[in-house]
Amino acid sequence: MTKSHYLFAVLTTSAVLTACSSSLPDDEHPTQKNHSHHNGHSHNGHSHNNNSNRESHVPLQSASTLYSQINLSLFNPSAMSQTPEIVSCTLENGLQSECAQMTVKYKPDDLEVGPFCPKSLDEDGGIWQWDGDKEGLYRLDGEFFEMLKAQGYSFYNDEGQVFITGDGAKPKYPNTCINMRADKEVEMTLLIPTNPMKAATPNELGTVSKVGISLSGVPIFSDAPSVLRTGHLPALDTCAGHVDPGGWYHYHGTASDINTVYEKEGVQAECQLTQSSSALFGYAFDGIGIYGSTEENGEEPTDLDACNGHVGYVPNKLEKVYHYHASTNFPNLPKCLIGVMAKNNFSTTAKAGVGAEGVGAKQGQPPEQGRPDRRQGGNGQEVNERGMGIPPGFEEAATKLGITADELFNALNNAGGPNANLAEVAKVLGVSEAELKAALPEPPPRR
Ligand SMILES: [Zn+2]
Ligand SMILES: [Zn+2]
Repeated sequence: MTKSHYLFAVLTTSAVLTACSSSLPDDEHPTQKNHSHHNGHSHNGHSHNNNSNRESHVPLQSASTLYSQINLSLFNPSAMSQTPEIVSCTLENGLQSECAQMTVKYKPDDLEVGPFCPKSLDEDGGIWQWDGDKEGLYRLDGEFFEMLKAQGYSFYNDEGQVFITGDGAKPKYPNTCINMRADKEVEMTLLIPTNPMKAATPNELGTVSKVGISLSGVPIFSDAPSVLRTGHLPALDTCAGHVDPGGWYHYHGTASDINTVYEKEGVQAECQLTQSSSALFGYAFDGIGIYGSTEENGEEPTDLDACNGHVGYVPNKLEKVYHYHASTNFPNLPKCLIGVMAKNNFSTTAKAGVGAEGVGAKQGQPPEQGRPDRRQGGNGQEVNERGMGIPPGFEEAATKLGITADELFNALNNAGGPNANLAEVAKVLGVSEAELKAALPEPPPRR
């Protein structure tokens, strides 16, 4: 086994596959009068161009499962690379069930994303949840970067130009604002149970991190990475989304009710998507609907459980159902998921980035296999962004080379992952091949 093989083997067993995200374009709101946009993709040429037709497709709740259940006709067809369908699936508790299977594009065709990093201190970029001193949600502007500089994080030069990297290039500065490159070819497949079932214990999002999918067709993840960990800042746009190292856009908050958070936290930012505090934003991976922060009457619910859910009336439903609400602080997502998720509920064809799910997918192997879905301390899809889940070998080797583990990983990954030509990687990193080989850990002895 070559050294780079060894590192990747370690990575695949220690990293988790997950990403982070959430949100939805205005015209996707279920509470809006005209639903023809979403319904255009519906099955078999059957059209649902008005509310009453759409309503007839809402499955009747059985007496035992009063949950806000997934309704495929509400999803944005421009996000789908394949027509969504109902398939059989295995739940994490081992039971066979049915799931909605959605394969989405790197981003919906009709969704404008960004801006993320501002080019200079004079510009406003997206937002960031700063977790150092004076923690909180901030607009990515001159004032914010000056505050970080006072704390020892220099994201800009003497001319006030922000250090930005993108296109998979390695950050040249210890503190770099990161705009990941989008990959239009990448697809993600999500599995969401159609009949939610309560789990024995709620799934904490801190360890699961996969939240769900917005009606706009954008995956939702929790746990945005921390600058404190890597020094770098993978900027979110003002709708709380950004591009994963794998090249696909995802949300880290409830985009359809994020302006409520800005108001509450006094952040000068605005998401241009249609905002509604009571609309259905999307569905969690346990199959349960996620709404904005208020009920239809505009009031904030007072009986929410630990996951930010409760039983109550929701728009367009006659019975009370269990559903989640967005919180009014960032990240404005449910805190945990009460229901059972499907096995292998998220996979992607992404080849780049630590989403290295693509590495597995390429070999015809379900990306999540051999890669635990729960990694302590975070989620795998964010591995690259937050530097967690990088195997110890990477950290040590990177330190020896004077670079970050992310940079080392990216260089190896971009050069072919397990088959990386170390001479080439050394060149990219600006070190000699001998230095690189000396820094990489020895593979464990074979028996
Ligand atoms: Zn992310
Ligand atoms: Zn409610």
